[in-house]
Amino acid sequence: MDYRSIFEDAVDTLRQEKRYRVFADLERIAGRFPRAVYRDGSDNAREITIWCSNDYLGMGQHETTITAMQETAGRLGVGSGGTRNISGTNRPLVELERSLADLHRKEGALVFTSGFVSNEAAIATIARLLPDCMIFSDQLNHASMIQGVRQSGMQKAIFRHNDVAHLRDLLAACDRKRPKLICFESIYSMDGDVAPIKEICDLAEEFGAMTYIDEVHAVGMYGPRGGGIAERDGLMDRIDVVEGTLAKGFGVMGGYIAANKAIIDAVRSYAPEFIFTTSLPPALCAAARASIEHLKASSVERSMQQRQARLTKAILADAGLPVMQTDTHIVPLLVGDARQCKAASDMLLEKHNIYIQPINYPTVPKGTERLRITPTPLHTDEMIFELRHALVSVWTSLELPRERADAAITASKLTSGDLTLPTIGG
Ligand SMILES: *Cc1c(COP(=O)(O)O)cnc(C)c1O
Repeated sequence: MDYRSIFEDAVDTLRQEKRYRVFADLERIAGRFPRAVYRDGSDNAREITIWCSNDYLGMGQHETTITAMQETAGRLGVGSGGTRNISGTNRPLVELERSLADLHRKEGALVFTSGFVSNEAAIATIARLLPDCMIFSDQLNHASMIQGVRQSGMQKAIFRHNDVAHLRDLLAACDRKRPKLICFESIYSMDGDVAPIKEICDLAEEFGAMTYIDEVHAVGMYGPRGGGIAERDGLMDRIDVVEGTLAKGFGVMGGYIAANKAIIDAVRSYAPEFIFTTSLPPALCAAARASIEHLKASSVERSMQQRQARLTKAILADAGLPVMQTDTHIVPLLVGDARQCKAASDMLLEKHNIYIQPINYPTVPKGTERLRITPTPLHTDEMIFELRHALVSVWTSLELPRERADAAITASKLTSGDLTLPTIGG
């Protein structure tokens, strides 16, 4: 049996479909984010600017977080010593969970090793504990939520993206007496659009459903204290379970849910993804907490991020580039073809020292391949002008389309009538 060739063939399939992924070798420079050292295939190093980081606010190199991590590692060491069942909970993790519960004004919070794990564990466990639960899941939910829905083994109905009327029809068609769980995100990270949270909560109330929201792309960045879109819109008390990451806006690592004590205690007690894995190390917990507490009190990072995102959108649109107009910090630039998208990304890196990862199928629908730009508070106005210059040059060289992006994206959603769960691979 030629085992090796089976794996090689599997990867070749991806290459043929232009879905093979190459990771850039990057070394971030603390104190100078978004600058980093890039090494090519032959290990030649040069400095580049990152325009696609999910360290949205640059908190990964903030003095407060670095100090907290160093100081805690010095005092408590680096590992946590095992699962919480076996080794107990490190003090910084207790404090982190309190900080998170306070952020979302919930009775409790539970930390996991990643946002992915928190979604999988929480959705699967909550749904399994609700007898004969029916899950209502947005069509564009993240792979980790899809995984949670699958793992639960419960029946599911997929509603069209952000389509409240469709959700209502599905809820109305379900037996009133059945427990219901509505799973959705606040900000969808590829299009940068925002869910109709209030309308979804209204429906949940009308039909007696629980609400589960993924605020991964909003925590730290929206609301007066960084509690997310639900905080900004005054809707936190209408959400039953909020899920977030410590890795994006907060710049460290880990995931969590916040909810009432009963839900937290049940997930803590029943989720294998929580029980059977080593807890986060104390230094990481301390750094995450320092980041959260800093962002509760400071809005400078949030307002600068919004300013730089607005400026980037305006400047790129003004240069005739196909920017999707979003209400958030995410700036998608439509290319519409996998090969061209990769070529644009390569040319930006090779010729202009700018790193923007191509986003291709299955992360986004075919025909909507794009460059996803994430301006941070640390991208200067000058960097934005450099970006415009580089993009215009690439768009001209590759003869990329300049039509309005919004129409193409909307069309792709309307034509993709497929409401089955997509395969995970994005
Ligand atoms: C990144 C992401 C996650 C997973 O968070 P990690 O902490 O990176 O594992 C969950 N949900 C959404 C919407 C995401 O984009």
